Amino acid sequence: MNAQHSIQLPEPECAFGYSERQLRDALGDRYDDFIEYVLMRANAICTGNSPCAVAHGNTFYQHDVQRFVERA
Ligand SMILES: [Zn+2]
Repeated sequence: MNAQHSIQLPEPECAFGYSERQLRDALGDRYDDFIEYVLMRANAICTGNSPCAVAHGNTFYQHDVQRFVERA
């Protein structure tokens, strides 16, 4: 465990998970590492239709973000 790497994750603002904008805010300079980390993984595009009422665009699953933060 290395305290300098600990990232506080907010609650995902989208029904699918975290929006791109939200992750940029939460991860800061680790954002590019995260994009590399999820490159080969599935992610959802939120179009503002059910189950989410707001079109968030590219979103990332909470469990992927969680795993990335925990291994960081
Ligand atoms: Zn959404």
